[in-house]
Amino acid sequence: MDKIIMKTPIVEMDGDEMTRILWKMIKDELLLPFIELKTEYYDLGLKHRNETDDKVTRDSAEATAKYGVAVKCATITPNAARMSEYNLKEMWKSPNGTIRAMLNGTVFRSPIIVKGIEPYVKNWKKPITIARHAYGDIYLNSEMRIEGPGKAELVFTAPDGTKTSQLIHEFDENGGVVQGVHNCTGSIEAFARCCFNYALDRRQDLWFGAKDTISKKYDHHFKDIFNGIYEKEYKDKFEAAGIEFFYTLIDDIVARIMRSEGGMIWACKNYDGDVMSDMVSSAFGSLAMMTSVLVSPSGVYEYEAAHGTVQRHYYQYLEGKETSTNSVATIFAWTGALKKRGELDGIPELSDFASKLEKATIDTIESGKMTKDLSLITTLDSPTVLNSLDFIKAIRETLEAGL
Ligand code: NAP
Ligand code: MG
Repeated sequence: MDKIIMKTPIVEMDGDEMTRILWKMIKDELLLPFIELKTEYYDLGLKHRNETDDKVTRDSAEATAKYGVAVKCATITPNAARMSEYNLKEMWKSPNGTIRAMLNGTVFRSPIIVKGIEPYVKNWKKPITIARHAYGDIYLNSEMRIEGPGKAELVFTAPDGTKTSQLIHEFDENGGVVQGVHNCTGSIEAFARCCFNYALDRRQDLWFGAKDTISKKYDHHFKDIFNGIYEKEYKDKFEAAGIEFFYTLIDDIVARIMRSEGGMIWACKNYDGDVMSDMVSSAFGSLAMMTSVLVSPSGVYEYEAAHGTVQRHYYQYLEGKETSTNSVATIFAWTGALKKRGELDGIPELSDFASKLEKATIDTIESGKMTKDLSLITTLDSPTVLNSLDFIKAIRETLEAGL
């Protein structure tokens, strides 16, 4: 078979620890033999981020905005322990945070579903994708403990000095707590557009819930923005695609999600997304089977696995011990990027190949060959547990048999 030729590069962001090891195995076994892979390579490994004063992260985000499609390996977010481990000049910020801020994007997380790894919610048959609005609300709050009696007020000062104030609460001698939160119209609008675009991209219904009956200005603003943008910019496109935008109260959404068979994109306010993404991902069985894509309002896509660098396995690997680390989410990050690149550049063979690789990955697991993490939760009888490389090689065998 001739190798598939690409036109525009994919921005490739390499990363850290065990996922960096998997990254190379995936390229060597599953991509390079089949594709004349064209990437613009950025090494986001912590060592190189430190050497470049983190410029490489910003450069990779700029390249993503330029080329439109990126694939990212998991990276270390430095903490105190990493400062000494890597002898860092500074405690560099999370690359994901930097890239997300530069692209003004929204992260969509979905589980990869295979037979034999059953969701804990028995009626969930299709993936539920969660989109979290990662700006504001309690994550950028200002709060106070009130120790005694007094009045707490909301005060807004306009540029001309005009003040508008409103009573929050008059405390008695026992005091209490008070919190100020905000969000910005521009950020909510960008979030809404990312969600509408992604729903169209995936041809899946979009659900959004807030508490507008109780929060008649704050949450209502979210509702109004979503409805307004939908009516003006997306209604026709949604109708043409045969998908639906559905708004209801957040508690009603939660109840409906539990009873549903899945298959929708669920847009969440910041806190709801924080909580619900952990619930949904654990209910689908495994963090190693969650994919993640950052979508910007202008339609730029960055694909990655939802999990981290799997540090514990990496230390075993360094000791020369055998590892059985699950590469599925990282493989699907690559297939997501290849499909999108194929679609944007009009190279159907590239998108087809990506779909075949996804199918080969799923078929391999469903045939009973899997990594240790999956073998512990599978309902299949006597699975074969493979090490990190042999699992990838088994996928290659399945893939080649089907080409
Ligand atoms: P982690 O890498 O997600 O791993 C936590 C544990 O989950 C692992 O020890 C392993 O459990 C299991 N696991 C996760 N992915 C797996 C896989 N692919 N195959 C098999 N098991 C898997 O989280 P962490 O250890 O808390 O974080 C490590 C580093 O990753 C940190 O430096 C953090 O900053 C970074 N991180 C990066 C990203 C990102 O780049 N998007 C996201 C999260 C964390 P067992 O040990 O029980 O086998
Ligand atoms: Mg959380």
